[in-house]
This record gives sequence, structure tokens and C-alpha cells, in this order.
Amino acid sequence: MKKEQNILQDTFGRDHTYLRISLTERCNLRCTYCMPEEGVQLSPKSHLMTYEEVFDIAKTFVKHGVTKIRLTGGEPFVRKDIPVILEKLAALPVELSITSNAVIIDKFIDVLKANGIKKVNVSLDSLNKEKFTHITRRNQFDKVYNNILLLVKEGFQVKVNAVLMKDFNDDEIIDFIKFTKDLPVSIRFIEFMPFDGNKWDLSKMVSYKEVMKQVNGVFSETDVIRLQDAPNDTAKNYSIKGYQGSFAIISSVTNPFCDSCNRLRLTANGQLKNCLFSSTESDLLSKLRQGKSIEPTIKKAVQAKFKMRGGMDTLEKLQKPDLHGRNRSMITIGG
Ligand code: SF4
Repeated sequence: MKKEQNILQDTFGRDHTYLRISLTERCNLRCTYCMPEEGVQLSPKSHLMTYEEVFDIAKTFVKHGVTKIRLTGGEPFVRKDIPVILEKLAALPVELSITSNAVIIDKFIDVLKANGIKKVNVSLDSLNKEKFTHITRRNQFDKVYNNILLLVKEGFQVKVNAVLMKDFNDDEIIDFIKFTKDLPVSIRFIEFMPFDGNKWDLSKMVSYKEVMKQVNGVFSETDVIRLQDAPNDTAKNYSIKGYQGSFAIISSVTNPFCDSCNRLRLTANGQLKNCLFSSTESDLLSKLRQGKSIEPTIKKAVQAKFKMRGGMDTLEKLQKPDLHGRNRSMITIGG
């Protein structure tokens, strides 16, 4: 009997077992590399997935092999019905996790625990209050910082994502690593990537190599431990001897990790992105609302996936505004 084709396997043999769902285009911060200065044209409410639709689409992906779902935004906790979404998705046989800016996460500790969420990624690009306020255009540093400490105290596995930018926070790399001395968190330095409206330029990016140059300039070779990366991991993981936490670099620009990519993304308005950098999307929500199966559309989207970075497989291509500019802004992708 002919084995049914796995609709989540692409033409390069990569099985997509990890779905990132953006629950909203709204956010309570205004980070300059994520939210264009002029803001974004938000989708009308009627174009956004209801919690039932989030669940129905997620259930279909799980039926075909998704084992991990991460909820993102915008900022997922600004969505009023997030407790219902968490409860419904928690009933699926998946590892559920969430990415947040942690401004209001303290209000949801019990809801997260009740629904078995153990892993929380927090976006924090500076340990300096003034710089934080500058890059987020909001004065919420203390809330975020204290909520990171609260999450650790409450036993969550916390990863802190910091997008590095030249002459902005590249002078805090060692401070961030020292933040892991007495705190069991993983700091992840993210190479600045091009998205619509974020005025990206390669010269603003801090590369994996530059981070490690700073690290090796401060810590002795024997103190810098290269950790085993998890399968499909986007990060290259390290720790400093005797430190409770770890640090990592996510190098999508200089050292992409597309060979082992297992990620698909669902936007808040129900569009499937087969890659973070893909400029094409597939409309699942309309199909669902027409009562049609979404599986053929999923299969087609996965089959159309490029080997690397949505087809921008060289740095030259990635630098072309007419190529990377066709993508959405980060706020409506959710990372
Ligand atoms: S750039 Fe695209 S293909 Fe590469 S790892 Fe990211 S999502 Fe996967």
C-alpha cells in the first residue's frame, strides 16, 4: 500500500515539526527593528484568526506531525482571549511555549502553569534602562527586568533574546553574559535581520564572529565551553565555566542553519509562511472559513519552500532591498 506522503516534508527532506503561531499584530512596545516608525497597517479584526480557528489550524498541523508550537505576536499577552487559546492548545499532544516582551507576563503566571507551559522566551535588547526606552519607545525596563527574575523564580525555563546592533548594544555583550553568572537563563544574541521597515543594513549587524571575538577577549579559552546544540537548534550554544546560565548566537545572516530547518509560521491573519524570509504566503484562513480542507494548501506551501532564507541564499541576495523588502515587518511575523 502506497505510504501517504508527509505533507510537512519539503523537497529537501526536512520534516516541519515546529509551528510558530503569531496570535496578534498588536504590541505594547514599539521596538525600532520590529515595528516600522510609521507603525503598521493592522489587519481588520474580521481578518484575524479567532481562537477556534487558531485551534483548528493547529490541530491539523499536529495531525500531520507538528510536535512543538510556539506562540508569538506582536505581543501575545495583549490578546484578550489568550487564556482560552492556551487552554485549547494545551489539549493537543505538543510542547507549547511562548515568546513575549514580558511587560505584563506577571499577570499570566498561573495561566501558563495551568496549561503546562515551561519555556518562555523574553525579548530584551539592553540591560540599560535608557537604551531600553530608546529602542522600545516605551519606559517599561523595570517591569521586564523584574518579570524575568519572577519567571526564573517561578521555575520557567527562560531564554532572553537580544537583537544585537552596532553602536547600540554591542557594548553590552559581556554584561549580558555576566547576567547568566548567577541566573539560570540562556541569553541568545540574534544577528540583526532585514524585514520590512526596519532600515536594516549589513553594517548595523553584529556577527557571530564579532560576538565570539569579544567573548574570547574577556574569558580564557578553558572557561568558554561549547555546549551540544539540540537537533534543529537555531542557536550555537556556549556557557562560561561555573556560570548557572548559558549564551548562544543565532546567526541567520552570516551562518544560516537552514539545512536542519523544521519551522513553519502562521500569521495572525491565518497566512502560512514556509520560511521566516519567504515573501510568499499561503492563505489557510479563507480555506478554513469556506469549509475546505487546508491540507492541500499546506502541502503546496511546504513543497514550494526554498533551501535557504526564502531563496536569498547568498549575502549578496539578502542585501538586495528589492528582495528582502518584499517580506512583512517583524511585528506581523512574530520571529
Ligand atoms: S531562514 Fe527560513 S529556511 Fe532558514 S532556518 Fe529560518 S525559516 Fe528555516
